[in-house]
Amino acid sequence: MPTCGPARVSRILTRAGRATGALYRDAHGREHELRARTVILCANGIGTPRLLLMSADADHPDGLANSSGLVGKRLMMHPFAAVAGVFDEDLGTTAGAWGQQIQSMHFYETDADRGFVRGAKWGLQPTGGPLGLTRSYPWSESERPLWFENFHDTLQARLGRSPMWSIVAEDLPYESNAVSLSPDLVDPDGLPAPRVAYRADANSRAMLAFHTARAVESMEAAGAVETVVGPMIRASGWHLMGTAVMGDDPATSVTDRYGRCHDIPNLYVFDSSTWVTCGGVNPAATQAALALWSSEHLLAEGPR
Ligand SMILES: Cc1cc2nc3c(=O)[nH]c(=O)nc-3n(C[C@H](O)[C@H](O)[C@H](O)COP(=O)(O)OP(=O)(O)OC[C@H]3O[C@@H](n4cnc5c(N)ncnc54)[C@H](O)[C@@H]3O)c2cc1C
Repeated sequence: MPTCGPARVSRILTRAGRATGALYRDAHGREHELRARTVILCANGIGTPRLLLMSADADHPDGLANSSGLVGKRLMMHPFAAVAGVFDEDLGTTAGAWGQQIQSMHFYETDADRGFVRGAKWGLQPTGGPLGLTRSYPWSESERPLWFENFHDTLQARLGRSPMWSIVAEDLPYESNAVSLSPDLVDPDGLPAPRVAYRADANSRAMLAFHTARAVESMEAAGAVETVVGPMIRASGWHLMGTAVMGDDPATSVTDRYGRCHDIPNLYVFDSSTWVTCGGVNPAATQAALALWSSEHLLAEGPR
């Protein structure tokens, strides 16, 4: 009998063009087979394509649901930057959750004059208490060093007085940004690790340069005595989208608009792997809405 504890799916099983269940390993590395009439993947933008690729078999040598060749491709991760301002007066920026409290979509839409397409969402957030202010990001970019003889003065200057804009930029879908299987790295169960190839393009770099410059201006206009620009994080990687794209045409998409794989009618993807574009806002609400939309359709239609 399977034991309780973490379980890692190693393979989706198929027979005669249909999914029949999954193989998984329990916490002790023992393998179990789970049979199912319908299989739904919700392993997010890296885990889902990894599982589809790991499930390659004689009938699907390039991985499951991959007749389009798009499984794992078009990874989008929301390039991210931040701008903090330090003010003379106490603005209460130790209070509240470390998350956005005001949102601006002022520069969200495309403006051809800016030299790039799409835009970004700004979220104004507190920078937290003393420990939060020792984070390397974005503070290590400050010209005012934090540690050693400056410690008390710098911390005092920032504590409660330093709001920050977080900037979440829309990513464009490129096939070269992709999840594949590592040829040499494995996870603790010996399964191939995902290999992620991702490069922020010129559009993203131009977009973030524009947005950080505007965010600095907004802080200065509000009276900031210092601004600190945290550069684009090399691999933001906490929003994962686009790697099993939905569409009407099986030649150019992995699933249909309800997350059903074109190639395997009882295999579904209910996570943001199916996104065609990613917008420039945090994804969880849309992920939940799409999962609901897909689930309702599956229930209404019934298992295939
Ligand atoms: C630090 C951080 C901050 C974030 N902040 C925000 C935010 O402010 N707002 C927002 O909207 N979003 C935010 N996100 C993104 C948000 O958390 C994710 O988009 C969301 O959790 C995705 O939900 P999901 O269920 O699709 O995937 P996940 O939450 O990633 O769940 C997928 C699950 O599948 C499991 N899995 C993968 N492969 C296998 C396998 N082979 N076998 C078994 N299990 C497997 C994983 O272990 C995981 O538990 C943040 C993410 C991070 C990391």
